[in-house]
Parts: sequence; structure tokens; C-alpha cells
Amino acid sequence: MQNKNFSFKILRKDNITCARVGTIFTPHGAIQTPAFSPVATRATVKTLDPSDLINAGSQVVLANTYHLYLRPGIKIIEDFGGFAPFMKWDGPTITDSGGYQVSFLWSPSAKASVGQDTSGQESVLDSGRVAKITDEGATFISHIDGARHLLSPEKSMEIQHSLAADIIMALDQPLGKDFSEKKKREAFERTLRWEERSFVRWNELETKRKKGTFQALYGIMQGGINKDQIRKSLEFILVTGFPGIAAGGETIGTDPMLTSRTLDLVSDLLPDDKPLHALGLGGGPEGIFEAVERGVDTFDNTSITRQARSGLLFLYPEDGGKVENKFRMDIKKSKFKDIKEPFSKVCNCYSCSNFSAAYLHHLIISGELLGLRLASIHNVHFINDLMKKIREAILNGDFIQLKREWI
Ligand SMILES: [Zn+2]
Repeated sequence: MQNKNFSFKILRKDNITCARVGTIFTPHGAIQTPAFSPVATRATVKTLDPSDLINAGSQVVLANTYHLYLRPGIKIIEDFGGFAPFMKWDGPTITDSGGYQVSFLWSPSAKASVGQDTSGQESVLDSGRVAKITDEGATFISHIDGARHLLSPEKSMEIQHSLAADIIMALDQPLGKDFSEKKKREAFERTLRWEERSFVRWNELETKRKKGTFQALYGIMQGGINKDQIRKSLEFILVTGFPGIAAGGETIGTDPMLTSRTLDLVSDLLPDDKPLHALGLGGGPEGIFEAVERGVDTFDNTSITRQARSGLLFLYPEDGGKVENKFRMDIKKSKFKDIKEPFSKVCNCYSCSNFSAAYLHHLIISGELLGLRLASIHNVHFINDLMKKIREAILNGDFIQLKREWI
């Protein structure tokens, strides 16, 4: 469903790669793409308020359905008109489906305790929490109060309707890394059914929305590096008529090369009128260039701010940033303890414009809250600034040249 309140327009495509510069128009403003979305897990990008985010060049934020559903709960957020008014963010917003967090309870660390429960369904104990996946949905135990919840495709749509983001995600069952071929196929088939149910419920909810508001539902492309599956998955999204496409799970991960390989499998199918979001894109600039080169328009990444809070600050090439050091440097290193100059020679973020590297070093090793904020501002600004440089380069036909300068 295309809608006058949501559309995507490509301004220019790169001549050599699938990189493209464009605009996503949402009811809460436009997103110039390719763009980075900081993650406001619990309706806050940790340590940053909305003015920090805007000053650091952010255009959009993504919040996690799972966390907001459990706390503060849907009733409170509904009363505010959505999570964006709740956190006083005026711009475009995204929510995920909750499936990824639920699958975290369900799959990884607890491999040893996989067993069959009385209903014959596979379940996993994870620190006392049990989650179960059936065709109906994913059942999980809240990490906050131990209450049992069922996240079905319909429920995910209803929660995301209340959270009121401009862009929302269909519920999928992410593929676990340790899945057998049989289990991968099951999860893949189930995801197609869940996406269809998400689509139906989303359509019903759309008819109830206030005039002038619209939530664009993205279908989740799945199948990992299985060419037949990922192509079938994307074809299903296009035929069904989702307004946007998201790549997640195994497709987009911490390994930029795996991300590249999987996106290459569908590059000829990607349409010009639907934006492509990479959920949880891993890596720094090296991963971003690979993704953008394959047509990714927006992405979120929690590690950008998480790394900042541990003292890992991004480095421009002018400051020594390169693939080998993953474009980052630990401000906790003692070599910074008496540096009166800013951390970066070229960065014009609030932190680098006002404070010395020595002060940042001192704040971070002392565990001071201001240090976490200044480091987060630098990293968010850095990625937003890189995205701006990438947009300009695509517009000028210089994308490959920019990539060569960086990578
Ligand atoms: Zn900076």
C-alpha cells in the first residue's frame, strides 16, 4: 500500500554500484537517505536527549517494541500518543517487531537446555526464562516480573500501532546460527505466514488510524545465504505490497562480508520505490560502505552508542581511522591523559568542539556520566556525518572515490 503520507523517492543512483541517495517522506518529516538511525531502546538513546540527537545530525530514531511493551507498558505510551511524544522526539521514528528480542530469550546462550516441553514444542531455559515458538507466536517470560506473554504477528502489530512509529516491522522468526537446515526451512516458512498475518492485521488497524497518520509496514527479508529462500522472501514482500523492505537476522549481522553476500543475492530484485532498512547492521564505516553499496537506505546499530559508553570513539581517516583499527580508538588509553587538543582534529561535534582529549579520557576512566554523554555525542555525530558525506558523494557521482578514501 503506497500512501500520500509515506513515500520513497530516489534522487540519484550511483553509476557503478547499487548505492542510491533519496528521501523517505513520513508523517513526521523526511529522512534523507542513506541514513543511520540511533537506537532508543527504552524511548531514550542512552545518555542523549532529543536536542543532543538533533545537534549530532540525527534524522530518525528506532525504539524496541519488546522493551516498551514490558515497561512502561502500552497504556501509558498510548496516552501520550506514541513513544515519540513520550520522549519528546518530533521527527520520524521506527519500531522493530519484538521478534528479535524474544528470539534472544529463546535461542542463543541456552543451547544446552534445549528440550521438548509437554506440548512437544521446543523450548529453552534461559536464566529461568522460557520462550516457546509455535505457529501461533512466540511465548516468553518477562525479564522484569516473570509474567508470561504471547507475541503473535497480530499482537506485534497492535503494540506497534500503539507505539505509533512511522515505520514498523512485520513479525519474523529470526534464524538461529545453530539451526539445522530443517529448522531453517521451518523458520523460513513460518516467517512467511507470520508476515502475511502481520500484513492483514496492519491493514485492519490502518483503517482505524486518525486522518493524516500512517504507519509504513516493512516486510522482513529472510533466508540468509540461501539464494532460493531469500529471493522467494523478497518476492513475497513485493507481491504482498509492503511499503518497505527490511533485512534482518542472519542476513544482516556483525560480519559485513556476510551481509554483502546475502544482499548480492537479491540486488536485481530491489525496487526503486521501496526503501530498504538493515536491522542491526554490524560494523562501523567498513560495514556501512558495503551495505550502502548494495542499496541499503536506512540502518540501525546499537553498537555505535554502546561502544561510545565503553570509551571506543570513532576515528576519521584524518585522525588515523582505517579498516585495520575498525576506525576507532580507546579514549581510555593513557596516551590521551595530558592531550590538550580535542580527540579529533577534524570532527566538529559538540564534544570535540569544546573539550580536550585529556578531559574526555579523565571522565571515561572515572566513570563520570558526562563522559558517557560526550562520547555518545561524538560517535553518533561521526556516523551521521559519514552518512552525509556518502549522500553528497552519490549525488556528485563520487561514491567509489569516497569509499577508496576511507576503505
Ligand atoms: Zn567529535
